[in-house]
Amino acid sequence: MGNFIQLLPDHVANQIAAGEVVQRPASVVKELMENAVDAGAEEIKLIVKDGGKTLIQVVDNGMGMSPTDARLSFERHATSKIRSAEDLFQLHTKGFRGEALASIAAIAHVDMQTRPEEEELGTHLRIEGSRVVAQEVSVTPKGTSIAVKNLFYNIPARRNFLKSNKVEFRHITDEFHRVALAHPGISFYFYHNDSELFHLNKTSQRKRIINVFGHKTDEKLVPVQEETEVVKINGFICKPEFSKKSRGEQFFFVNDRFIKSPYLHHAVQAAFEGLIKPESYPGYFLYLDVDPTSIDINIHPTKTEIKFDDEHTLYAILKSAVKHSLGQFHLAPMLDFEKDQNLETPYAYQNKEAHIPGIAVNPGFNPFQHESRISGGSGGGYGKRSTEGWENMFVDLESKSSREEAFSSVHFESEAVSGKIFPPAEEKQVNEGTTFQLRRKYIVTTIRSGMLIIDQQRAHQRVLYEKFLRNMTLKESLSQQLLFPVSLQFTPAEMNVIQELHNHLQTLGFVIELASEEDINIKGLPPLVPEKQLGSVLDTLIAEYRQENTSNSLSQSDMLAKALCRSVSVNSGDVLDPLSQLALVNDLFACKESMLSPFNKPIFITLTENEIDKKFN
Ligand code: ADP
Ligand code: MG
Repeated sequence: MGNFIQLLPDHVANQIAAGEVVQRPASVVKELMENAVDAGAEEIKLIVKDGGKTLIQVVDNGMGMSPTDARLSFERHATSKIRSAEDLFQLHTKGFRGEALASIAAIAHVDMQTRPEEEELGTHLRIEGSRVVAQEVSVTPKGTSIAVKNLFYNIPARRNFLKSNKVEFRHITDEFHRVALAHPGISFYFYHNDSELFHLNKTSQRKRIINVFGHKTDEKLVPVQEETEVVKINGFICKPEFSKKSRGEQFFFVNDRFIKSPYLHHAVQAAFEGLIKPESYPGYFLYLDVDPTSIDINIHPTKTEIKFDDEHTLYAILKSAVKHSLGQFHLAPMLDFEKDQNLETPYAYQNKEAHIPGIAVNPGFNPFQHESRISGGSGGGYGKRSTEGWENMFVDLESKSSREEAFSSVHFESEAVSGKIFPPAEEKQVNEGTTFQLRRKYIVTTIRSGMLIIDQQRAHQRVLYEKFLRNMTLKESLSQQLLFPVSLQFTPAEMNVIQELHNHLQTLGFVIELASEEDINIKGLPPLVPEKQLGSVLDTLIAEYRQENTSNSLSQSDMLAKALCRSVSVNSGDVLDPLSQLALVNDLFACKESMLSPFNKPIFITLTENEIDKKFN
């Protein structure tokens, strides 16, 4: 029998490796930027076109490469960063696998210009699908510029698999954020389709965070600092009132490398326990320094997972450091019933006499003068009302009464959460005794053959879901005008999402006005969304949208309808009065699909007389 086994040619092996290293344009961005950091650059420029599909270029002013190194850098397992297996446990660089450039060059057109400082002339190298097509001497600035064009040009399946430019661009932005946050000592610039998105000069950790996420971040940050033998922690947590429904501003850096760690995330989350609403996430930017010998980064090619020698200790230290900061900055509520009230007087006031408070009047105050929006101050991102647009109250009165009818059919859900969900006028329709609520969770009702047990939450989600979808497809948005527009703040990344979703949100009934780069004013709401929940509802929508990664308009509507119905529906535990129970049951059976919730869970079960009889036997 013959021998069949052959070694794969290099370019094939590289393509296979590329499958692991390069999932999408953002992976290329990460690898190139990390190489630039490793090269000791002080300035790194990222230039991207069409979500990275046409061009990704990283220009650095680092150490550059000799002509031989330039050529070698594209070979697989070629690296200057480790020499032996022991070095793996002494890593001080981002890269070490020597795979990135070889992988990228196997699936794209790569153009590299590089020159070490001490040389006069540099090298220009062009590679297409692992083949060197040109190498020449060139005049180029110190450092390295690598342009990656037409990613996946030779793997159509992968190229087709890429998401829309917007989605790919969002991933790139995330990657850029991570590298820029990890290295505040380096200047970063980011251009997309010829417009400058970020211009981040070398600065401190805190300023870098603010420059990336907007100046309003400043008031949110609370420093965290802890130094032990095992780990040195510094960075910031966001005050509890700024915690969000969306994950996104959670960053761990271990030895300046962004990592994902559900375990450490849990430690931070645990420290916030009791201070934030359930299912919301605190923001944090935590930089951990540990002995390189105590971690193993080698477990995933993209290197965002790390194995720690002593995870448990790290967990405990992190949790207590975060708790300490929360306490130190008086963010944790304190209840002390034993305390003598008389001791509460601040020292500075103790010996002062009380005097009658005076009234200060501003004679120049003009109540008709247009007042500008109240911004800044404490109180967080939500619920800051502005008085702008109060005139609309009157304009709106007329149109409201004409819309009354349209509202009445929708009206009851808007109050559903509070339990009493029927206007008194309709009370005559009560047909009591036909439904009752079981354990604040199920609605039990009779049918001819026996009884139905309906999950109230799922039923309500179904009803809402169909209503939202209907509004969106008919583009007939019912909107409840707010007397006082609510102003909300978002990070630039979130603002991007809001802009992308603007049309959809409008058909849902949100009337949104973009006020500035980081603020929106909400002037109208879908009638079913309680104003109190506005902030958290939008947070959820943004979070779901970012996770979903879809650019298809239909599935976007579907996703939004789902997210919205989930966040405003009645929950298990909510008490419903008999009228609301009945209304919900009727609405449910008026739905196109009444068996399954929007999330494909059964909504009700039946118990027939037969089955009941059987149980008595
Ligand atoms: P790794 O980073 O794991 O070593 P890469 O394939 O990313 O592997 O890069 C291979 C080698 O090419 C690096 O070890 C480094 O010596 C060199 N190199 C890559 N990018 C740069 C750059 N921007 N400046 C200087 N040298 C670079
Ligand atoms: Mg590398």
